[in-house]
Amino acid sequence: MKKQIILSIILLSSTLFSFAQFSQSPLPFKYNALEPFIDSVTMYIHFNNHHASYVANLNKALEKSPDLKNKSIEYLLQNLSKLPADIQTVVRNNGGGHYNHTFFWTMLTPANKSKMSPKLESVLTQNYGSVEKFKTDFEKVALSRFGSGWAWLIKSEDGKLKMFSTPNQDNSLMDIIKIPGKPILALDVWEHAYYLKYQSKRAEYIKAFWNVVNWDLVEKLMTE
Ligand code: MN
Repeated sequence: MKKQIILSIILLSSTLFSFAQFSQSPLPFKYNALEPFIDSVTMYIHFNNHHASYVANLNKALEKSPDLKNKSIEYLLQNLSKLPADIQTVVRNNGGGHYNHTFFWTMLTPANKSKMSPKLESVLTQNYGSVEKFKTDFEKVALSRFGSGWAWLIKSEDGKLKMFSTPNQDNSLMDIIKIPGKPILALDVWEHAYYLKYQSKRAEYIKAFWNVVNWDLVEKLMTE
């Protein structure tokens, strides 16, 4: 009997104290901080249900592969094609989901902090003709994604800025999608990101996004 109790305690402790490989960093703002552009209920569900599920599914899939235990999310995505076949799709969808959402939260900031510096304005003007043209180009990319996915601005390996969209949770780190580069700006255009407030009006959500972009981070990523 005593042995059984001790065994139960050991089993329970190992469950309680086993550290999952990946976890969510806290949101860098309150759920309602992006109102009225992104509503607090959407933020709450997006962070606690959608993003949390990607992390849970990713951790579960990796339990089967102890040799991937200490690998970073960037490593997993950059080496997707070399991962064991039975977890490749799970890591693509859920690892991509974890990376993309973690990046997206840092891309957002309350409207009163969302300000583009003259330096960033000049970089965007050099590349796109004007800041307005940069925005309309990005909006077109985000609108043209059929179904679920992301719109991206990346710095490609030759240092040039590029815009494109990816389906599902794919991104430019993945070795299987052949658009290598460092993400600079990302917009989640899955319906779960906007449907409660904007319903089918994706274009309105995309326009609202400009009010809550963390331009300081965009500039940092672009120039470093
Ligand atoms: Mn999402």
